[in-house]
Amino acid sequence: MNMNLLETPIEYLKGVGPQRGELLRKELNIHKYGDLINLYPNRYIDRTKYYKINQLVDSSSEVQIVGKIIHIKTVEFGKGKQRLTATFIDDTGEMELVWFQGIKWIRESIKVNVPYVVFGKTTSFSGQFNMAHPEMELLQEHKASLRSAMQPVYPSTEKLTNKGISNKVINKIMQQLFVETQALFTETLPTYLIQELQLIPKNAALFNIHFPKSQELLSKAQFRLKFEELFFIQLQLITKNLIRKHKIKGHPFEKVGEYFTQFYNHHLPFDLTNAQKKVLKEIRNDLGSPAQMNRLLQGDVGSGKTIVALMCMLLAIDNGFQACLMAPTEILATQHFNGITELAQALNLNIKLLTGSTKVADRRIIHEELENGSLHIIIGTHALLEDKVQFKNLGLAIIDEQHRFGVEQRSKLWRKASPNPSIGGETERVLRKYQTARPSTYNLLKEFKHQNKKNCTQAETILWECLRNKNLEFKFRRQHIIDMFIADFICIEKKLIIEVDGGYHTTIEQKEVDELRTQILNELGYKVIRFTNEEVLGNIDAVLRKISATLRSLPSGEVGGAIIPPHVLVMTATPIPRTLAMSLYGDLDISVIDELPPGRKPIQTVHRYDSNRLKVWQFIREEIEKGRQIYIVYPLIQESETLDYKDLMDGYESISRDFQLPKYSVSIVHGKMKPDEKESEMRRFSEGKTNIMVATTVIEVGVNVPNASVMIIESAERFGLSQLHQLRGRVGRGAEQSYCILMTGHKLSNESKTRLETMCKTNDGFEIAEVDLKLRGPGDIMGTQQSGVLNLRIADLVKDRDILQLARYHAVKLLKDDASMLKPEHQKLREVFIELGKKKNIWNYIS
Ligand code: ADP
Ligand code: MG
Repeated sequence: MNMNLLETPIEYLKGVGPQRGELLRKELNIHKYGDLINLYPNRYIDRTKYYKINQLVDSSSEVQIVGKIIHIKTVEFGKGKQRLTATFIDDTGEMELVWFQGIKWIRESIKVNVPYVVFGKTTSFSGQFNMAHPEMELLQEHKASLRSAMQPVYPSTEKLTNKGISNKVINKIMQQLFVETQALFTETLPTYLIQELQLIPKNAALFNIHFPKSQELLSKAQFRLKFEELFFIQLQLITKNLIRKHKIKGHPFEKVGEYFTQFYNHHLPFDLTNAQKKVLKEIRNDLGSPAQMNRLLQGDVGSGKTIVALMCMLLAIDNGFQACLMAPTEILATQHFNGITELAQALNLNIKLLTGSTKVADRRIIHEELENGSLHIIIGTHALLEDKVQFKNLGLAIIDEQHRFGVEQRSKLWRKASPNPSIGGETERVLRKYQTARPSTYNLLKEFKHQNKKNCTQAETILWECLRNKNLEFKFRRQHIIDMFIADFICIEKKLIIEVDGGYHTTIEQKEVDELRTQILNELGYKVIRFTNEEVLGNIDAVLRKISATLRSLPSGEVGGAIIPPHVLVMTATPIPRTLAMSLYGDLDISVIDELPPGRKPIQTVHRYDSNRLKVWQFIREEIEKGRQIYIVYPLIQESETLDYKDLMDGYESISRDFQLPKYSVSIVHGKMKPDEKESEMRRFSEGKTNIMVATTVIEVGVNVPNASVMIIESAERFGLSQLHQLRGRVGRGAEQSYCILMTGHKLSNESKTRLETMCKTNDGFEIAEVDLKLRGPGDIMGTQQSGVLNLRIADLVKDRDILQLARYHAVKLLKDDASMLKPEHQKLREVFIELGKKKNIWNYIS
């Protein structure tokens, strides 16, 4: 069928009309026929079975019954409240149907003494069964409908149901849609792929997703549509990633200089693990190239991300830039500051800490030093994002514990970057750099240069006539040689280059080359604007206007400096399975530290009930006897904050009673304390002056006290898996055997049990992440603000990970073979791809 029909506004569909159309738009975001066809059912109900009223039992879930209504009445209850009840009978008994909403509409539309099929959940109330807000359909229509035994249940909203757009109605208009479109839908995937994967055609898939003929066909339809959905997302992500890599210019850190070398040769406190070395290499590759780095560094708690971060910052400093490290909490920022200052002690660098509690006088000095460039490294919290903080030349921004910062904050750091340092006359150096950084593109570039010049196009001739004769105030030259480039047209006074591109410039490869060429010319101090042949031939006046405007905007004899963003490294200890990470963080490259430093003894984790507390306390005493320290953590959930604080303080009191001075001393840290109180309590604990640290989750991230060997987590059932894992990561940092004890009551949900069992079974963050993912879904993994980011219609990133992988594999393969999807067999695919790109909603989650 033609695409245009799918563009028809939804109210034109028979049975919809303006009012329902409005509702569908508002409630389900259905604007056009095409949106409705993509409204996929959430689930299917087996409607092969009919119940009799006397077969109903208390625990019946959803049932369908044939019978008729013999009586309807409206009942007043409470103040001004009404409900509608109907007596419904079949040949075995009677029951009641009840409505609380939409009463007027229902009362008017219901027919008495006519056979209906009712469907819904029944409950029993003093011996009588009733069904609230049943789905109803005249028996006659029910028999005639296109509906199959597996009845789809569509997503809905309360408002829709109340306004009479029930599942049944949606079903009906869906049928109408198939009638009007004659159920002919264009195939979107290439034939060879359909054959290779044995997919069912688009037509059949859409039909069976809405009106499944059999379970088997339904499964095939689901597979096909899920694959298609994920496949197009992958195509978008991969393409976007390709383009991004060559688009955003970054400061190339070309040299490995004094600081890095000195640190590496003389001040490494330990040998780096292979994983650390691997990751450093990946990062150094990025930093050395002229594109901006946007990298995610994943590494389990304790895997040694800090030293990697420091070494990256040293590279920045070696290349004349400043670096910053931003952490989500004050405690963590302080910890980083202490750790990094200590590591870098011998290097004589100016490193400072900036948090909310930095004193005004110190702050002023920091601001000054950042601006005049004498401060090398700044470590801090959100305070770094304040407007007053301006860098002289920020080259690298490291963000720790990504899930606590939003994408917005990441980009805010970008804007603190410095203006482009002027280069001027260093053609040789710039070119050599590109040659080494990206040899293949460089070679390609040389090749294209020859080809391009062979065909001097008509468009070029026309433009040249204009530039030469029409007076643009400035003098242009044609075919001007700048080192290895031949610029189509150039205005030397303004350093403005104008290029006219033939049709071949639409390929991804050529685009890449064009970008690179533009980038190099920019660095050499030229501004480049491009026009296509079509633009020049089609509207030469507009082209000339643009050139003239650009000329006016440029200063004479120099090029305006663009802002170059710093490289960005995001560090996270929340392991995300790789395929998922690739789908969620389309804009980040990923490095993983998948190895812990040597000599760590795996933490032993056990689950204990509150009733065993005495034994646990005894165990603590023994550990303290051995000179170890203990954490005891209480949950703190915002919704029940007051209660939680009470639990914490009660716990603290009873612990202080059980572990009394002078033999024992107990610290406490929680969010309501002032920062300096927190700080001093933390310090007492880390200096070994107290044996036990009672805390809320404020210690979750980053705290590092190697002598602490026991982590006790109270009400462990209330924590999520990744949080439990983070907390456990606070111990096991020293050479001693460490323990994690999960305390709970006896009443546990199945999910809690799974979490506790998983914790006891494994220390592997990725394994835990997998389980977490299965329990919670990807939305929660990334933090609630990002849940549902992908807006998937049918696929589920967790359940359908195999399909995701398959889709990714084929997307990569296809783009490798035909990057711009220009081959005839990809024509349809390309059209759909471009359509989706216009809609954008598929991936506006990225940045
Ligand atoms: P995280 O990845 O959780 O931030 P850290 O960087 O805090 O981990 O490192 C955890 C601990 O491991 C620190 O005490 C650090 O000094 C130590 N460490 C890091 N790398 C190594 C290594 N290669 N060999 C030995 N110890 C290491
Ligand atoms: Mg850390």
